[in-house]
Amino acid sequence: MNIQFFMPTKVMMGKDCIAANAGELAALGKKALIVTGRASAKANGSLADVIAALSANGQEFEIYDKVMSNPTIDCVYDGANAAREAGADFIVAIGGGSPMDAAKGIALLARQDIPREELFSGNYHKDVLPMAFVPTTAGTGSEVTPYSILTNDKLQTKTSIASPLLFPKLAFLDAKYTEGLSKATAVNTAIDALSHSVEGMLSIRANKLSDCLAAESIRGIFSCMDSLKAGTLSFEEREVLLYSSMLGGVVISHTGTTAVHSMGYSLTYFRGIDHGRANGLLLGEFLKLVEKTFPEKVSEIVSLGGLPSANEFKAKLFELLGEMESFEADELEKYSDIAVNAKNVKNGIVVPTKEEILNIYKNSLMR
Ligand code: NAP
Ligand code: ZN
Repeated sequence: MNIQFFMPTKVMMGKDCIAANAGELAALGKKALIVTGRASAKANGSLADVIAALSANGQEFEIYDKVMSNPTIDCVYDGANAAREAGADFIVAIGGGSPMDAAKGIALLARQDIPREELFSGNYHKDVLPMAFVPTTAGTGSEVTPYSILTNDKLQTKTSIASPLLFPKLAFLDAKYTEGLSKATAVNTAIDALSHSVEGMLSIRANKLSDCLAAESIRGIFSCMDSLKAGTLSFEEREVLLYSSMLGGVVISHTGTTAVHSMGYSLTYFRGIDHGRANGLLLGEFLKLVEKTFPEKVSEIVSLGGLPSANEFKAKLFELLGEMESFEADELEKYSDIAVNAKNVKNGIVVPTKEEILNIYKNSLMR
């Protein structure tokens, strides 16, 4: 049995876990740059909890609250300047995947002069600001991944900085921050987490341990499906989703994602569709393709949600996703041209051809 497992982030989960573990932040440095989005961290109490913990430790901070959804390369260079100007020696990121991913780029660029054309090269020296993360959506798992995914206008897609240097040192998971999420964001982010765990099980890099975590995550997300759809998530269900999302992050840290994510990036880049929703629109058709070659693997996955086939799995996701955007055939051709060259397409146990990619797009998105 071949297994490698590496997860260097210390995860602390539970209600009020920041206050309960404030001392953990003390070891990271003297002055934090708090990296967050425009509004939600102020509204959901997470920013106040972080500030209280830093203040209790006698640590200084400045706030960088300019991270937009699907953060840009400009944003991480700008944030790195802010970190340098502030004299920050560590980062606390608060928010969904966007502020967390931006924070990783900022932590890297604050310490290393990397020209833009080499940002995604993977050639970095070891010096990166230490990071603590507070996820406030239950979806990306970025708090436990070594990926920073940025909008790349040059390639008209999203591109990852991937390096073990980007693992945060600490992650605080408190589901109370997710209580004010809109129904759409709660659904879309949960589907992102589901996609990570399902794609992880369909990756050539999956192993027994990553599959075990993925299965736990998929079961957890399916257990919340009805409440997600009705918009009636209890606190306990929010905890299950946050836990399942973190597990999905651990999974993709080992397996990477597959064609679904690569294909979804075009829906986000060109049509502004939320990342998780983009994956959810495509995941069922990808499973149907894999089912032709690996029926047992797909049966194992869909049965974790109590479903008999990839077709039923797709139908269940579509129920949750609601009304569909409309697409033209020629735009799907363009997206297929882009996706076929994406690195992660080759990461799946089934590597779709360009024609199969186009068919997944068409069968998923055209009525
Ligand atoms: P997001 O872009 O971080 O946030 C979406 C929206 O939700 C924003 O308007 C945000 O507001 C709001 N929001 C966040 N937390 C909230 C809360 N607790 N209550 C109310 N509103 C809240 O969305 P996301 O889906 O979490 O992250 C998507 C990004 O993560 C994409 O860029 C994707 O590529 C990336 N991603 C990364 C990984 C990885 O491994 N690194 C994996 C999957 C996805 P504010 O802007 O005001 O905060
Ligand atoms: Zn994702």
